[in-house]
Amino acid sequence: MAGGPGNSRVRSVPVTEPDIAQPTSEHADASPDAISEAVSRVWGFDALRPMQSSAIAAGVEARDCLTVLPTGGGKSLCYQVPPLVTGRATVVISPLIALMRDQVRGLELNGYAAAAIHSGVELDDARDILRRLTLGELHLLLVAPERAVNPGFKSFLASLADAGRLGAIAIDEAHCISQWGHDFRPEYRRIAELREVAPGVAMQAFTATATPRVRDDICRQLGLRDPEVLVGTFDRPNLTYRVQARRDAAEQTADAIRRHERTGDSGGTIVYCLSRKDTEELAENLRSQGVDAEAYHAGLSEKTRRDVEHRFSNESLDAVVATVAFGMGIDRSNVRLVVHATMPKSVEAYQQETGRAGRDGEPAECLLLYNPTDATRWERLIRMGNAEMGADADATQAQLGLVREMRRVIAGMGCRHRVLSEHFGQPYCPPDGALTCGACDVCLGETEPVRDAQRVSQIIMSAVARTDQRYGAVHIADLVRGADTERLRSAGHTGLPLYGLLREHRKPALLSYIDQLVSAEALERFVDGHFETLRFGPEGVGVMKGERVIQLARPAGTGTAKSERRRKSAALAEPLSLEDKRIFEALRALRKEIAMDRNVPPYVVFSDATLRELARSRPATPGAMLEIKGVGNAKLEAFGDAFLGVLNAPA
Ligand code: ADP
Ligand code: ZN
Repeated sequence: MAGGPGNSRVRSVPVTEPDIAQPTSEHADASPDAISEAVSRVWGFDALRPMQSSAIAAGVEARDCLTVLPTGGGKSLCYQVPPLVTGRATVVISPLIALMRDQVRGLELNGYAAAAIHSGVELDDARDILRRLTLGELHLLLVAPERAVNPGFKSFLASLADAGRLGAIAIDEAHCISQWGHDFRPEYRRIAELREVAPGVAMQAFTATATPRVRDDICRQLGLRDPEVLVGTFDRPNLTYRVQARRDAAEQTADAIRRHERTGDSGGTIVYCLSRKDTEELAENLRSQGVDAEAYHAGLSEKTRRDVEHRFSNESLDAVVATVAFGMGIDRSNVRLVVHATMPKSVEAYQQETGRAGRDGEPAECLLLYNPTDATRWERLIRMGNAEMGADADATQAQLGLVREMRRVIAGMGCRHRVLSEHFGQPYCPPDGALTCGACDVCLGETEPVRDAQRVSQIIMSAVARTDQRYGAVHIADLVRGADTERLRSAGHTGLPLYGLLREHRKPALLSYIDQLVSAEALERFVDGHFETLRFGPEGVGVMKGERVIQLARPAGTGTAKSERRRKSAALAEPLSLEDKRIFEALRALRKEIAMDRNVPPYVVFSDATLRELARSRPATPGAMLEIKGVGNAKLEAFGDAFLGVLNAPA
């Protein structure tokens, strides 16, 4: 059966919608058994994740709560389940308009009645949606924040609450309400007004990124009443983190994509850039390297953006190169690679953006391409932007502090999983009692320890001392590697005995060592006007005297062929056998046809993980198929025959 399933099989896919069960509050049963039964029947999941159970219980019992779960942690289930067992609807406020439609279609395929109201919905349709909510025909309504707070919608909510039809108001991406968060949206502040119109209804906030300060701010701004704060584990064990010195972003990205392709993984790639111009250039350079890539940013027409989103989510486009400000609209659960072509402006942003990789729980990679000048670029942008907006000095300092913290996190040569977890205030334990995470460049041994670290540190420190602590990192790196620059000559530094003492080290490596010395507090950055200079930090003298030795590591990207080979083997799903792979591809082709037929992204039909499990265990009957994770009753009804047909077709 070459080239996927035959057409006849595809035609047998029912094109009618599955029966959509309607909510009724009469027979509501909110016991734990009823919850598990609903989750298994509708989604085909055999268990809830620990934090999900608690969040769902709060929803069912109408208590205020804040749930902090990393991207991919399963937040949506927390607000989707309660209406099924209480018979009262949830209204979800979400800023991600592009994702609303997919969420609604996905739920409908599971036989779950949901709808969305945002700027793209016609007035008549919106009226109809409200009518269905009043009649109790919908479990869930997704609504954009600016819609949620308009007077008409507020009085509608009040009447829905009075009629006992409203169970909870859920606020997705709740960190947008806090100016200490990384994605502050002033319109989010007004959500607190909803409490006044529906005082008896529980408010439930959800976010993937929240430091304790942001968490407190969310609870205060929303006026949550004695909220239960549920904080999940931040670590994403299925992600492999890598930091490389940036040489050529297109080449390094294309290399990473090819590494994934060789192992037959079908997932997409998102590349984040700092500016629109960067996205255009990088997309162009990737195309010239043979990668199927498109730029994506706010300057493109609505139509072009839709087209890119659509092609990416239905898997006919492999890579999207987006500005971070705009990447939110891009969704696909099987993103296998997220590349940052520039350092992100905060660890929170990094966690959120890398969080778009591997949402299906399968292994995925996050590659950060870094140059120390990235931080300077962010600092300039923040100062300029804040001066234009007239932001106060505190807000500017808070944002500059986030940039410094990001830089510290990158510069350290410790386990990336550990440093990220600890940033979010959680101790890190490698999975299954292993000694290392096994999923970052440091633990995989891709960064090489510098053998003569003490000598290298002392030469760099001496260069800082001998030039009176008046120069920045680039100048110091140039000095010790003996570069021939005008600035070195005019400063008279080419004649110093230190000149060229570290000529065997490459410039990106030297800049990284300087970062590492800053991270270890041997050096400090000092901003004097617009210039950043280096000076001795608290540990500086100890290092010079040889009392303290700092372990330096050469960053990946300046590595050897051997470490490249090692790197290839990490971060990949357990490979399918040749035969399983053939079936997987046939199932994928069928999934794509069904998705196109119904005008939904393929992952909404079944996730990669579900296809992989189907290919491995090849169920022969509907009953056996129902055992597979991700197969619920409605999907079995709608697609069971078609998939069983492919699974049991003679080879
Ligand atoms: P978030 O909104 O937190 O980023 P999602 O709600 O999109 O995460 O869920 C991420 C993925 O995890 C989805 O593919 C979803 O189907 C899956 N998932 C959620 N809960 C469970 C569960 N209890 N068992 C198995 N898979 C789950
Ligand atoms: Zn590690």
